[in-house]
Amino acid sequence: HGDTNLFQHYYYTNNLRMTHNRVKVVVRVRPTNNFAHDNIEIAEDSKVVVHSNKHAVGHINNQVSDWSFPMDRVFHNAAQDSVYNNCVSQIVDKALDGYNGTVMAYGQTGAGKTFTITGSTENFQERGMIPRALSHLFQSINSMIENSVTVRVSYMEIYNEVLTDLLATEDEDPKTLTISEDDGLTVVKGLNVRLANNEEEALNLLFEGETNRVIAEHALNHASSRSHCVFTVHIESRSRTQSSSNYTLSKLNFVDLAGSERLGKTKSEGLTKKEAMYINQSLTFLEQVIIAVADRKREHVPFRQSKLTHVLKDSIGGNCNTVMIANIWGESAQLEETISTLRFGTRMMCVANEPLQNVHFDPVLLVKEYEQEIKSLKMELAM
Ligand code: ADP
Ligand code: MG
Repeated sequence: HGDTNLFQHYYYTNNLRMTHNRVKVVVRVRPTNNFAHDNIEIAEDSKVVVHSNKHAVGHINNQVSDWSFPMDRVFHNAAQDSVYNNCVSQIVDKALDGYNGTVMAYGQTGAGKTFTITGSTENFQERGMIPRALSHLFQSINSMIENSVTVRVSYMEIYNEVLTDLLATEDEDPKTLTISEDDGLTVVKGLNVRLANNEEEALNLLFEGETNRVIAEHALNHASSRSHCVFTVHIESRSRTQSSSNYTLSKLNFVDLAGSERLGKTKSEGLTKKEAMYINQSLTFLEQVIIAVADRKREHVPFRQSKLTHVLKDSIGGNCNTVMIANIWGESAQLEETISTLRFGTRMMCVANEPLQNVHFDPVLLVKEYEQEIKSLKMELAM
């Protein structure tokens, strides 16, 4: 019975791999000298095959079996630029065209989420997806003739269901944030959305947020592995040539998720009950939302169950290009968590997305447009 379900599940995901506009899921294996070749096989056609019946790892969920996880791509010993060029750069291009985009890093603590999203600040080759996206974005903007683009940046942390603004100024309370929805876009009220005129200014905002992230972690006495961080680039693009009132407004999110490891007795030692509950719950809610979005027949998607899913409402499924980078350790000691991450990944691949361009009206410009039209009509009549 279980095997039939499993077969159907993978048959289903395999079929859906053909469809466009769904969440792309890639796996990134953290480089290690102890790669578990006996247990993990990176097969052709971007499949990860896990043999869970070998060695000390034993049976996962009492099943002795080979598990096959079809993914969009598998990166093994891959450099940052390869990950960027293959799965992030298109999302940045689309964001400039007015489509929302989200890059999410999922996986157990230590698997490389922060390395992937933010990367090294010392080694230029090892800079992560955010600095690369900012560089790419401003390069494209600078070569644009027809459009005038404004870039703004926000950065927040979600810990124990509390939102913290990582770009709050000294005189502001970084915790007075509320989530609301406006015209299909999720808006976090009270969150600083700061103007970045160029790559350098945007990078400085990223570093400012990173510094505040460390300070916040010390103040609240928690490790980064227990919170979600969301860095958002807000892109507003207007035509220079046409005096059109239309402009596009899009969001590009980079999400460094909390560690996905099950917080068992030993791991949750030192955590309060509440803390352990929140961490487990918010990732479960993320999963529930993803499954509900994938099931097109389901009308209600429980976005409001957690701050994370509420904030990401316009960024998972629906109107968004999304890539999830599932980070894994390739070591046999971590096999159980690896399987859990890969299973989550295949479930994510069911999400059908239908990205829409976010075109908005500027009422002031619209009035100007009409005035211009009346003027020219009057001139025509007078002739
Ligand atoms: P996470 O954010 O998932 O807890 P980190 O990104 O902090 O994990 O990674 C843990 C450690 O492993 C860091 O020291 C990081 O620099 C290193 N690391 C992770 N992934 C890679 C990689 N692909 N290449 C080189 N070093 C990596
Ligand atoms: Mg991290």
